[in-house]
Amino acid sequence: MFESLCDFDSGSSEAQLRARVQELERVKSAAAAAQVRATALWAAKRRAAEAAAGVPAAKQGRGLAGEVALARRDAPVRGGRHLDFANALFNEMPHTLAALASGHLSEWRATLIVRESACLSVQHRRELDARLCADADRLNGWSDRRVAAAAKKIACELDVAAVVDRCAKAAQDRCVTIRPAPDTMTYVTALLPVAQGVGVYAALTKAANTTFDDRSRGQVMADTLYEQVTGRSVAEPASVTLNLVMADTTLFGCDQAPAWLDGYGPVPAQIACILAGDAVTDGTAKASLRRLYRHPRSGQLVAMESRSRLFPKGLAAFIAIRDQSCRTPYCDATIRHLDHAVPKHRAGPTSAANGLGLCEACNYAKEAPGWSVNTEETNGEHVAEFTTPTGATYHSTAPPLPGPPLRRRMSLVEGGLSIDLVTFDAA
Ligand SMILES: [Zn+2]
Repeated sequence: MFESLCDFDSGSSEAQLRARVQELERVKSAAAAAQVRATALWAAKRRAAEAAAGVPAAKQGRGLAGEVALARRDAPVRGGRHLDFANALFNEMPHTLAALASGHLSEWRATLIVRESACLSVQHRRELDARLCADADRLNGWSDRRVAAAAKKIACELDVAAVVDRCAKAAQDRCVTIRPAPDTMTYVTALLPVAQGVGVYAALTKAANTTFDDRSRGQVMADTLYEQVTGRSVAEPASVTLNLVMADTTLFGCDQAPAWLDGYGPVPAQIACILAGDAVTDGTAKASLRRLYRHPRSGQLVAMESRSRLFPKGLAAFIAIRDQSCRTPYCDATIRHLDHAVPKHRAGPTSAANGLGLCEACNYAKEAPGWSVNTEETNGEHVAEFTTPTGATYHSTAPPLPGPPLRRRMSLVEGGLSIDLVTFDAA
């Protein structure tokens, strides 16, 4: 099937190529609809099997969201959304599912409809489904925003109390997140109740309106935000802990290998050197250096200098630096738990080899029945193998440390060093 999809004549006319692009978009929607059916049937089978085995209703389907995410090569946090989306469309919203299958809706637009209907009763959800999507042709030409607005309008007409109630509950989800932006910038995003969000923006706008220097409005607003939150001027070095991992050769200017900034990702050598230099030259800042050793072949962390390296605190730091983020495949959440791949109660040792950095959600997901994780270290490469209840296996490999490219041949000293240091167990 894939061959016939990809195989087309490079000598095709523009009109033929346009027709192919259009056809492939329909195929994507149809595939999403087929995925919905397969996922919902899978969930029903799992529930039936667990009910037959006497698993209480509240515990049925535990861990399935993680399996769905792995099968879709997606982050575990999105597995639950995929599962809810499939169950809602398959069991309660046949018209929306049909519009997806026929290509009148993309997967994202169908997701918007499910999202807007999430607070409704099953009966109201079915009604919204019929009113919005029974005549799929009218959806042609509708933008994402129009689809979401139409769904929200019908939801309000059917049960305004449920929509208002959901708005009130949404305030509980307020949070602040950070993600990398291009060119060593970051997006710090705050999800706030509307009045507070508008209030923050108004205060920053006011600062921009009353500041007259050579900065742009955007620059004044960004600087004011930083100063109000941290209590420090943007000109002063940040008084927070930055964990920066870089090769010593890069620090001393011998090469330009990118460094790794914890919580952000790779940063260019020059910027890493400026960050390190600021910390060293600022009298009020406390800069500390820790020596790390990378494996001569895999480049992964094999050992590090730590006064408490025989104790769990040192081991936790070792695993956090080696793994960089949650080790579940496709998950890039921050490490919250230091986990035993083979659990302690099954005689799994507390060691770097059996240790895994996991986010909170992934740690709980892997405790569900039928899941197992094994780790292996070969040639300095730490690999974790996740096995799901249906017998699928997925692998994640620890990333290499920053630094210049590895030499092909290792010297006798390095070989001896890495073998000596790789046995890193907590007491
Ligand atoms: Zn995770």
